[in-house]
Amino acid sequence: MSATDFGFTISTTRIVDFDAANRQRYEELLSRVPSYKYCIACGNCTATCTAGGMTGFNIRATHLKFSRGQYEGLADELNKCMLCGKCVLVCPRGVNTRALIVNMRKLLEES
Ligand code: SF4
Ligand code: SF4
Repeated sequence: MSATDFGFTISTTRIVDFDAANRQRYEELLSRVPSYKYCIACGNCTATCTAGGMTGFNIRATHLKFSRGQYEGLADELNKCMLCGKCVLVCPRGVNTRALIVNMRKLLEES
């Protein structure tokens, strides 16, 4: 057994290289929805999401992916949201999650 066969290791697939990521759209998203900078990724929005119960939509995963510049398949995922606004009511940090989704959609369309 080598020294790397036990203990904690970070899976390479989960490493996010922020230096390599294009964060331009994320910066634009922050300027359009300033409350997003207070997000602590708690997941309340996901736990309460109406669409999540029916489609498996995960709002936290989508905005985290967006912030990391991981856009693959994101537009289709975002279309599962019905903009009901329930997630806005439960966010402990006052993030306007509904505006977040609308603007993520717009930024993906604009590119
Ligand atoms: S509920 Fe608010 S703070 Fe928590 S992950 Fe969602 S947007 Fe972020
Ligand atoms: S606005 Fe979208 S993300 Fe928020 S609770 Fe409704 S369906 Fe879910």
